[in-house]
Amino acid sequence: MTDAGAEKELNPWESQGALFDEAARRLQLNPGLAKVLREPSKEIILHIPVQMDSGELELFTGYRVQHSIARGPGKGGIRYTPDLTLDEVRALASWMTWKCAVVNIPFGGAKGGVVCDPKKLSKGELERITRRYTAELLDFLGPERDVPAPDVNTDEQVMAWIMDTYSMHVRHTTTAVVTGKPLDLGGSRGRQEATGRGCMVVCDEALKRFKMARDRTRVIIQGFGNVGRAAAQHLHAEMYRVIGIAEKDGGIYNANGLDIPALVDYRKENRTIVGFPASEPADPQELLLADCDILLPAALENQITTRNADRIKARIICEGANGPTTAAADEILEQRGVFVIPDILANAGGVTVSYFEWVQDRQGYFWTLTQVRERLERIMRSAFFDVMGYAEQHSVRPRIAAYMLAIDRVAFAVQLRGIYA
Ligand code: NAD
Repeated sequence: MTDAGAEKELNPWESQGALFDEAARRLQLNPGLAKVLREPSKEIILHIPVQMDSGELELFTGYRVQHSIARGPGKGGIRYTPDLTLDEVRALASWMTWKCAVVNIPFGGAKGGVVCDPKKLSKGELERITRRYTAELLDFLGPERDVPAPDVNTDEQVMAWIMDTYSMHVRHTTTAVVTGKPLDLGGSRGRQEATGRGCMVVCDEALKRFKMARDRTRVIIQGFGNVGRAAAQHLHAEMYRVIGIAEKDGGIYNANGLDIPALVDYRKENRTIVGFPASEPADPQELLLADCDILLPAALENQITTRNADRIKARIICEGANGPTTAAADEILEQRGVFVIPDILANAGGVTVSYFEWVQDRQGYFWTLTQVRERLERIMRSAFFDVMGYAEQHSVRPRIAAYMLAIDRVAFAVQLRGIYA
C-alpha cells in the first residue's frame, strides 16, 4: 500500500465515511439526506490561553464537534491527548450519533478534546485548561444542548471541574451538564464499569449464537484501562478464560487463564501489568494475533488494519475501543468469517449508563447498582438483537447492519422534524 493509501486507511474520519457511504447506499437513503447526515452540524475550534505553574503563558488547541442533535442533545466524551486531530474528533462525534441511535437512547452525537499531554501537566494546570475550555464552550453546552463525558485521559475529577465551571456561570448547580461525575456530585452507580460490562453482555449473546461455553472461551484483551480492565473483571467473574492482556509497555499470557482480581491489585501497586506472577511475558502486537476465541481491543483506534487483519485467529472480535478496526481491515475480517461485534454496539454500555446518569440527575433520584445493571443489560441485549436482525434481513455484516440501523433511526428523526429554513 502507498503512503497516501495507508494514511487514508488510518484516518478515522475517512474510515467512518466509507462505512457510512456503504450503509447509506444499502439503505437507498435519499442523497440530500445522506449529505446532511454525513457531515457534523457544528465544529468548534478553540485556542485556549493558560497560565502555567512556571508563570509562562501557554496556548492549547481544543475542539468540540457536534455531529447531530436530531434525536436529542449532543453526547460524547472529552479526550486529552497530544496528537488529537479535528478529523479524529469528527469521527468520534459521528460514532456517538450512531451509537446512541443503535441503543435507542434520546441523544445525538458529539465529541471534544484538548491537544495536550496530561502526564506533563500539574493538577492545577489541568484544572485551568479544563475550566477555560468549558468557559469557552458555555453557549454550546448544557443538559439540553450537549453533555460531555470522560474519554481517554479524562476522569471524574475533570468532569467535576466542568460541572462546577458551568454551574458558576449559570448561577445554579447543574449536575446534568456532564456525565461520568463522582458519585457524590450526581454520578451514577455502575458508570465506571458500564462499558466493560456491556462488552460482556454482547459477548454472552455471541457465545449463544455459536453455542460456545463461557468456561471454554479464551479471551485476549488489548488495553487494561477503564474499558479493558472492567471487561476483564466481568468476563473473569462470569467464568470466561482471559488468557492474555496487551498493554502499551508489554503483554502477559497464561494459557490456563489469568487471575484478573490479582492482576488488578498488581497493576494498582506496580503501575504496570508487566512482571505479573503466574504469567509469561508476551509481545503486545503478537498477542493480537495469538490463538483465542474472543479478541477484545480496548485501547486505541487503528489496531486492526490491512497489515494484520489476515493473521488474526480469533473467531469473535468485540470492539471495546472506538474505531479499533479500519474499514479496509473490516472487509478482510468479513471475508475470513470473523464475527465482529462493532464498536457502536459493543462499547455502547458506557453511553447507556451516561444516559441513566443524566436521567437520575434531572430527577434528583438515584438508582441502585442492581437497577443500573438490569436496565443496561436489557438495552444491550435488545440492541444486539436489533443489529443482528438488520444483518440477517439485509444480508450484511454486523458493522454495516449497525450503521444501517442507526442511520435509519436518525434519518427518520430528521425527516419528522423537517428542515428548518
Ligand atoms: P484508558 O485511557 O482508561 O485506557 C486505555 C488503555 O490502553 C491504557 O491502559 C493504555 O496504557 C492502553 N494502551 C494505549 N496504547 C496501547 C497500545 N498500543 N497497546 C496496548 N495498550 C495500549 O481509556 P478507556 O476509557 O479505557 O478507553 C479505551 C477505548 O475505549 C478508547 O477508544 C475509548 O474511546 C473507548 N471507549 C471508552 C469508553 C469509556 O466509558 N471509558 C466508552 C466507549 C468507548
